[in-house]
Amino acid sequence: MMEFRDLKTQYHTYKKEIDSAIQEVLEGAHFIGGKQVGELEEQLARYVGVKHCISCGNGTEAMTLVLMAWGIGEGDAVFVPDFTFFSTGEVVSFRGATPVFVDVDRDTFNIDPNSLEKAIMKTVEEERLTPKAIIPVDLFGLPADYEKIEKIAKKYGLLVLEDGAQGFGGSMNGKRACSFGDAATTSFFPAKPLGCYGDGGAIFTDDDELAELIQSLKVHGKGTHKYDNVRIGVNSRLDTIQAAVLKVKLKAFIDHELSDINKVYRQYNERLSSIVETPVIPEGYYSSFAQYTIKLKSKRQRDYLQAKLKEYGIPSMIYYAKPMHKQRAFEEYDYDDKEFPVANELSDIVLSLPIHPYMGEDEVMAVTKVIKMVLNGDNVI
Ligand SMILES: *Cc1c(COP(=O)(O)O)cnc(C)c1O
Repeated sequence: MMEFRDLKTQYHTYKKEIDSAIQEVLEGAHFIGGKQVGELEEQLARYVGVKHCISCGNGTEAMTLVLMAWGIGEGDAVFVPDFTFFSTGEVVSFRGATPVFVDVDRDTFNIDPNSLEKAIMKTVEEERLTPKAIIPVDLFGLPADYEKIEKIAKKYGLLVLEDGAQGFGGSMNGKRACSFGDAATTSFFPAKPLGCYGDGGAIFTDDDELAELIQSLKVHGKGTHKYDNVRIGVNSRLDTIQAAVLKVKLKAFIDHELSDINKVYRQYNERLSSIVETPVIPEGYYSSFAQYTIKLKSKRQRDYLQAKLKEYGIPSMIYYAKPMHKQRAFEEYDYDDKEFPVANELSDIVLSLPIHPYMGEDEVMAVTKVIKMVLNGDNVI
């Protein structure tokens, strides 16, 4: 069976470096807050192009910490794309605020600026919630439309938190993902563009005050030290072993992985663009391809193709089978299904194919061959 995202080959390529980086942590026995954590944060901040990088437990807590620092809570509205991983909306509800879901752009899968402005105006008119922030997501590796989003945010006085969990490495007009908005977050979950060997996450910002507050919140609301507690916080840290692994992986990511995965994207597009709807990367944008997602003609065709791929030993995933507004956890908010035509359609027709920097052209061909064969024989088209 082909790997959906091949973490084993990556490990074997860098086994020597990774093993010795982990060994060094074991010998030093400084498992929390070892020097590798600070070194990694510095490298990440420099790569992204922001003043502060603060590592933490995972991508979900990274967002929670920012919302906590901003004091977002009950009675506040936070605008979130309807088509994303659950976490983006979950953190809003977790803080007691209300996620207002917004339909997405059919080409980019990202939050649609027009629908965003409509949702903000409607929330303002209703006077039930106070609009506070927008959390655009860089879905599948492609940065959201920050030019338009930041304009809208300014117009309505809203904060912007970039959910760059899938976006690390992407860019827009040369500006790197995780540098947009007032703060940005990412995840180092193993299968993300830059992954560690467990859970991990980080927050990025140019805002000194925000950075200082988050440094406190992530360590039990510490004051001058860990046992001087000045506010209620959480415990959310990236451990030293993960930081050591990430230092090796960041170098590989910058050296070749990002360009290699883009090579795979082009090989796929060349073979598939005349048969299915392939990913659209707008002018000036660069994707880190957390996923390579195609669109089929119908749910029936999508499900049929996925079953056939499986028969041939090719894994594929449906990201996401259910838009946020349909998740039972958000039932209480009573969203109007008619407001999300694009997210509803996408959830029926998307299919993510295997992609990773270590995928060879022979594997790409193996996947596209099955797709061509299956779709040519499917008289639904
Ligand atoms: C993975 C992911 C998260 C959460 O990251 P974790 O590290 O798993 O908590 C948040 N948002 C998006 C879009 C993600 O893909």
